[in-house]
Amino acid sequence: MRLYNTLTRRKEEFKPRELGKVAFYLCGPTVYNHIHIGNARTFLSFDVIRRYLEFSGYEVTYVQNVTDVDDKIIKRAAEEGRTVTEVAEEYTTAFIEVMHALGVKDPTIRPKATEEIPAMLALIECLVAGENAYESGGDVYFSVRSFPSYGKLSGRDIEQLQSGARVEIDERKRDPLDFALWKAAKPGEPSWPSPWGEGRPGWHIECSAMSERYLGTPFDIHAGGDDLVFPHHENERAQSEACSHTTFAHYWLHGGMLTIDREKMAKSVGNFLLLKDVLEKVRPQALRLLMLQTQYRSPFDYSVERLSEATAALERVESALRNLAWTTENYAGVPIAPNEPGERAVSWTGDLLARIERTREQFVLAMDDDFNTAGAVAAIFELVTAGNSSVSDGVLSESHRLAVIETADTIIKLLGVLGVMLGVDDSEDAEELPLETVELARELAGYHGDIPAEAVDLLLALRREARTHKDWATADAVRDGLGTLGFVIEDTSTGTRVVRR
Ligand SMILES: [Zn+2]
Repeated sequence: MRLYNTLTRRKEEFKPRELGKVAFYLCGPTVYNHIHIGNARTFLSFDVIRRYLEFSGYEVTYVQNVTDVDDKIIKRAAEEGRTVTEVAEEYTTAFIEVMHALGVKDPTIRPKATEEIPAMLALIECLVAGENAYESGGDVYFSVRSFPSYGKLSGRDIEQLQSGARVEIDERKRDPLDFALWKAAKPGEPSWPSPWGEGRPGWHIECSAMSERYLGTPFDIHAGGDDLVFPHHENERAQSEACSHTTFAHYWLHGGMLTIDREKMAKSVGNFLLLKDVLEKVRPQALRLLMLQTQYRSPFDYSVERLSEATAALERVESALRNLAWTTENYAGVPIAPNEPGERAVSWTGDLLARIERTREQFVLAMDDDFNTAGAVAAIFELVTAGNSSVSDGVLSESHRLAVIETADTIIKLLGVLGVMLGVDDSEDAEELPLETVELARELAGYHGDIPAEAVDLLLALRREARTHKDWATADAVRDGLGTLGFVIEDTSTGTRVVRR
């Protein structure tokens, strides 16, 4: 597996610090507002990378913080006459809800900055003791010039930063490049006691303290959007390495930016899109599929047209899967010849099995090459097309039937690795199947599991089988049993299903 490392500016072979395990830190949201779809793209990209690492056999410890004390939160609270905690809690809850809606897995650990102050104080004390930081008027600043490799991550030169940037002159700083680790309390702001008086942490120190505490250093992957490379990640690295004298993180991964209709998203342009508003209009799986069609480091352009194309593509996959399921279940077309498969059957089966194998290989090759989701999705779509044409004459033999089933399973599984969950109806009117279906399947069909969807599938298969043998009593028992639970059986062109009466 090769991944692009911002620190070295090249693709590198991925070697975790511990065999089979990955320690992963992703900068989380500052909870002062609902997240926009640019943030969503970053969080989705790293969710997919995490899922793929897990699929590849790694045990991933995935830490994503919540910045719940910050200038923007304080400002919003003051404007709305609320406490900082109230504002932070509202948007933390909203953030988690919208991540769930998008199918982003919860992190292994989700630390909150306000609950990690002791670790931040310990790190600042270490930096002050080592003369990498100094106190000034109740603030504490990091001395950028005390860390010789400052600028290495973002590829910036200290002298250029000094002369080029509009560095504000601040009398409390010894050098305009220095940045705050700790800010003295102002009236009405949340604050914590410290050796330098009441105050609160700076943003950068939060991530250093939380990643070190939960992952240890050096950890494997530090990730975020590419707007965080400078100054946030540059500063995190300087703070952590100045204190520990060891590497902070081995691989730095940064997601590309998002544009809308080829324009930068900005409140001033009036094209600022919140994720929650987008999700009210489209299926989350379609938005996910759209974002996957661009590799995570490349700029991604969002438009309503592209989103409807992705919705149509998702529907094509679903329709193909229904088609494959219908054909294998109903043996439509040419009758099955289990012992003497015709020539076409042999060639369809062989072609399909080869195509499945090739898809799996292409999927892994693409993903192992710096998480090229665009290539991975393209490989899956080729299998969708191959599956569809393979059943154009129905199912031709038992081996062909098994190959078709494997085609459908492969499509579902590989899309699932990317977090596109098919077979899960994510529309709001999705039917909840009651647990009683499990009882019914146990009674009528000898079912041993405990999953309602499986139970219903088995009941429908039993009914189909019974009708083939003109065993009307069994077929009626299935119909009546499901009827008692409030469901009717519908035979449609795409298969048999149950719907609530
Ligand atoms: Zn961070």
